[in-house]
Amino acid sequence: MIDEKLEEVYADVLRRNPGEPEFHQAVREVLESLGVVVSKHPEFARQKIIQRICEPERQIIFRVPWQADDGEVHINRGFRVEFNSALGPYKGGLRFHPSVYLGTVKFLGFEQTFKNALTNLPIGGGKGGSDFDPKGRSDDEVMRFCQSLMTELYRHLGEYTDVPAGDIGVGTREIGWLFGQYKRITNRYESGVLTGKGTDWGGALVRKEATGYGAAFFLEEMLTANGTALDDRTCVVSGSGNVAIYAIEKITQLGGRVVACSDSDGVVFDPAGIDIGLLKQVKEVERQRLTEYAEARPGATHQAGGSIWDVPCQVAVPCATQNELSGRDARMLVSNGCIAVAEGANMPCTPEALRVFTSAGVLFAPGKAANAGGVATSALEMQQNASRDRWTFEHTETRLAQIMKGIHAACFETAEEYGAQGDYVKGANIAAFQRVAQAMVAFGLV
Ligand code: GLU
Repeated sequence: MIDEKLEEVYADVLRRNPGEPEFHQAVREVLESLGVVVSKHPEFARQKIIQRICEPERQIIFRVPWQADDGEVHINRGFRVEFNSALGPYKGGLRFHPSVYLGTVKFLGFEQTFKNALTNLPIGGGKGGSDFDPKGRSDDEVMRFCQSLMTELYRHLGEYTDVPAGDIGVGTREIGWLFGQYKRITNRYESGVLTGKGTDWGGALVRKEATGYGAAFFLEEMLTANGTALDDRTCVVSGSGNVAIYAIEKITQLGGRVVACSDSDGVVFDPAGIDIGLLKQVKEVERQRLTEYAEARPGATHQAGGSIWDVPCQVAVPCATQNELSGRDARMLVSNGCIAVAEGANMPCTPEALRVFTSAGVLFAPGKAANAGGVATSALEMQQNASRDRWTFEHTETRLAQIMKGIHAACFETAEEYGAQGDYVKGANIAAFQRVAQAMVAFGLV
């Protein structure tokens, strides 16, 4: 429920952003948490901080023309939504996926602003991407696309202005082509302008692993704080991209047993526990589908289609994409005995799923807290670039673990302070909002 004082704010967001349901959903979830804050802080209402936070500072939309190997010309659309720079330069990934439109980028940029605030590092929020579909495209085609995108995007970036990274469809390979083009156009080796770089040209160790590792660390903290543990619990992790692979790796190291993961073709069920070496070989080295995993692994089965959330588990970690876990899926998880959910992806659970988990007393870690390890390690990459330094894997992983502990504590304690013990959604939204809002008040009406 949205507090009546904020109803008008939400109505305004709907009016100003028609046809963008994911953005409405992300804003609604945050506004539902903030009623108690505006009652306590009338200065935020006077300064219209919530209205301002819901309106991106700048939105850039541009044409991205490129040529396929067969000579055909293609036109895609590029986006960068620079959402909020109260706490630092705009920071957030680029997503390449055919479903991307302004509403996707806006919802992700909004979430990113709050997520980045939770890290307690000096980064504002932004997001970008394109409706370009990398599936089935050659290396040369993806490189030409990246170069064309950067030929426009570069004028909006800078290590003190806006610092993109990867997201779905954008990894170290694409960041390399984007960085190469930025460097060529600007004639500057400005390492801190992009994160998720290769580790031999300015990238931080652990950045690749960080989102998944961070989600596992958060999950462990949450279970411990609630008097339980990961020990030998059956876990299901959806997806099989970068976030899923490293969530599976760290959950396994921490004592959980991950029995299923998925891609857009279907679900792999591996009762002995996912073989992480084989998963990396199939997905990272060969860039193949999960059917290859099932073929190579004795005891594993592949099911085309169907919902991964039908696989019985005690812990669910959705790491694929937004709204992948429905109300029906949540009911299935609850009836199978699920006790905890940690969102590795951005907004993977629908509002109905969230209601099901809340009323069943399932521990729920929202993405803006649980998956903040990726962007936090991007901020550590920026630190290393600014000081022309290079940290070890162990040092960086220790920093990441500390940051995730800090995020957990902020969510947990803020929820308690506002009388919502154990509600990590409220805790995350309020703690993040207060950090951004206080900086905005300090800067005056800008
Ligand atoms: N795309 C990632 C996220 O959703 C990482 C962003 C970054 O490292 O800047 O947080």
